[in-house]
Formats: sequence, C-alpha cells, structure tokens
Amino acid sequence: MNMYILLMGPPGAGKGTQAAKLVKEYGIPHISTGDMFRAAVKEGTELGKKAKACMDAGQLVPDEITIGIVRERLQKPDCANGFILDGFPRTVEQADALDGILKELSIHLTRAVDISVPSSALIERAVGRRVCKKCGAAYHIRFNPSKVDGVCDECGGETYQRADDSEETMKNRLSVYDAQTKPLISHYQKAGLYSEIDGSQEMSKVFADITSCLGK
Ligand SMILES: [Zn+2]
Repeated sequence: MNMYILLMGPPGAGKGTQAAKLVKEYGIPHISTGDMFRAAVKEGTELGKKAKACMDAGQLVPDEITIGIVRERLQKPDCANGFILDGFPRTVEQADALDGILKELSIHLTRAVDISVPSSALIERAVGRRVCKKCGAAYHIRFNPSKVDGVCDECGGETYQRADDSEETMKNRLSVYDAQTKPLISHYQKAGLYSEIDGSQEMSKVFADITSCLGK
C-alpha cells in the first residue's frame, strides 16, 4: 500500500529523526521544502530559476512558484510508492493548493501526522543545547551533559549555546509556528486525516504511534 504522509510539528519536535525512520520503514522519499528548493535551483528548472531570483533578492518565494515546485517534485519516479512531505503546506491557502495537486495526480493523502510537543518542553530542549565550536558535537546541560561543563568530550573544544537556541528566539519561532499551523490542523481534521502524536515520549514510542496511525 502506498503511503502519502504529511508530517507536521513545531521546530525541535524531532520531525527529522522520525522522517528518517519512516524513509527506512516504507522506502519512500522525505521531501522537505528546503531540499526541494535546493534541488529545483540546482537542476535549473524554470521554477527553480524563478525561486532563485526571489531568494537572491531576499524576497519570500511566492506561493505559485512554491506550489509549482511541489507539483513537479511529487511526480518524480521516486514518489511512485508515496512520500513524506515536510514543511509544506504552511498555510491554508497552500493546503488548498496541495489538495488540488493531489486530486490531479489521483493521490489520496494517507494521514497528516502532527508530532506535538508542549512549547515549554521545546524551549527547555533548545535552551539547554550546547554545541562544540570545534567539532559540532551536541550536548544538553540536563539530558546529555558533557563530562566537564563547557568542554567537549570528543575533542576538548569549547561548547556554546547557539543564538538560535536562546529562549527569546525559540519563543518567537514557536508563536509564529502556532499561528500558522492552527488553521491547518482544522483543515486536516475536517478532512478526517489529522492524527496528533505525543512527541514528548521516547523516540521509539513516537515512531510506534506514527506507524499505528498510518494503519501499519
Ligand atoms: Zn568537539
């Protein structure tokens, strides 16, 4: 059975990890918006060129271009048995457009899977994260501390908190995410396709919950 999965979830909820496990389980590609744009630009497609011009000018890529790139991507041979779409749609307008594309391609979305983690937990995860300046090894002051505070176990380099991981930045990103996503949740609830997964559980339990909501 083909698997057409839409993956939702706030930044830091562990979508990347779960997507990698789903790729292995079902042999379908993980399509993230960023990768899709980079590929289109690299291939030099018409839409890729237009998207690049916008990005080079520091502008947001308009919906019609984004949607066109999604349409092209979903028709590639590696999507024959399904896909995991991640980071698109972000708005109800984009969700409507995606519905149109799927209808055109006679594809029935299997599930919109939302990996949900309370904001307080996401902020704690982010704020405690430390990264080695030298080798990039990642630690967490509470969940995975280095043996000596501020010193990398691997290479002895200095660990630091990235600006992106500050409480302020994280709060902003989460509130933008919430505002954008709430209407999407009801869009997929109305379609009977929405499944909320408790992403604060252990990784393997999160994965088990996802596969069970997919019916496999
Ligand atoms: Zn290091």
